[in-house]
Amino acid sequence: MAEIQRRKTPTVKIGHVRMGWEVPVVVQSMTNTDTADVEGTIEQVAALALAGSELVRVTVNNEDAAAAVPHIVEGLEKRGLRVPIVGDFHYNGHILLKKYPATARALAKYRINPGNVSIGRRDDDNFRIMVECAVENRKPVRIGVNWGSLDQALLTRMMDENSKRPEPMPAREVMIEAMIASALNSAAAAEHYGLGHDMIILSAKVSGVRDLLDVYSKLAERCDYALHLGLTEAGMGSKGLIASTAGLAPLLLAGIGDTIRVSLTPKPGGDRTEEVQAAQQILQSLSIRSFMPQVTSCPGCGRTTSTYFQELAEQIQSYLRTSMPEWRKKYAGVEDLKLAVMGCVVNGPGESKHANLGISLPGTFEEPKAPVYVDGKLYTTLRGDTIVAEFKQILDRYVESHYGKKSVELIGA
Ligand code: SF4
Repeated sequence: MAEIQRRKTPTVKIGHVRMGWEVPVVVQSMTNTDTADVEGTIEQVAALALAGSELVRVTVNNEDAAAAVPHIVEGLEKRGLRVPIVGDFHYNGHILLKKYPATARALAKYRINPGNVSIGRRDDDNFRIMVECAVENRKPVRIGVNWGSLDQALLTRMMDENSKRPEPMPAREVMIEAMIASALNSAAAAEHYGLGHDMIILSAKVSGVRDLLDVYSKLAERCDYALHLGLTEAGMGSKGLIASTAGLAPLLLAGIGDTIRVSLTPKPGGDRTEEVQAAQQILQSLSIRSFMPQVTSCPGCGRTTSTYFQELAEQIQSYLRTSMPEWRKKYAGVEDLKLAVMGCVVNGPGESKHANLGISLPGTFEEPKAPVYVDGKLYTTLRGDTIVAEFKQILDRYVESHYGKKSVELIGA
């Protein structure tokens, strides 16, 4: 497998988290609670952090939200959770950061959207005030351009200039150039106002996959700032997951991107941590980082008419997810474990042999037995109603014997 050559960037420190080419790609997420709801926000940040989010962003959109931030940070510390909190600022960040100095101190990073910090102004005083606040508090800043809130004055000027060219570029190209110009001009202004080069992260988010690839490829060529990747407004369910993967994977494989977020729209009352799982799965599928043991399971077909094997695959997957918080502490490297759960003997044994642990259930008309493979060799054959429980026991013993401090023998099932 060819090694990914990461694009070289300065290393940015965000609280205790480091970001840049020398360290693994960072997973981040964002809450959707009202930040002013301190307890509700602490709950959600805790859930996101425990799911593996290494940074969590909260919106700081009004005075109540700004006043809540130090209490949220304190509440997380009391729970023993060390997760840097990023403040997302838009129209009034310059006012809130000045009026709530404890918030400016408590946040680990500020996100500034250059498209809407100085709306209606001829100068960039609002932007400057926010950057000066970051300099004073020694906080890094993400300059986050979003095509939905792109600096309209800049876009209009660039469109006008383009129309006067002998061969004007398509409007899409101008939009992409405007996003890049907004990010780079803002970064240059931030440095002019005293922010260090290694205190700046850029993002240029769009909602179209091809646009995302183009804008980030060009941005990566034109600067060495650390980059935050994400397909904005990715959408719900499989659409959001697939579009995000299609957009992020080629960039990550090209070594572009130092942190990612998957911006899924959750179902009403849905689990916000899905976006963390999705980001981790993208990185793990690309062999960039490992977070969770991976389960290979076949899609099933007419050879397994029962849902038994689907249930087994689901039970193993959820057993891994619930066991991982504890396993992670006790068993170094367990996230690299590979399992196979297969529906019948056509591909079952072959796939099982490529996994650390594999099981093939009996297909229709096959003898009712489930061969289990351990590290490529037939280990035992399970039968009857206790296949799932026995397979979990074998899994537990494998984890203990291969990743535990004291190696124990894998005894017969
Ligand atoms: S392994 Fe068996 S059950 Fe699964 S898809 Fe292949 S033939 Fe069908």
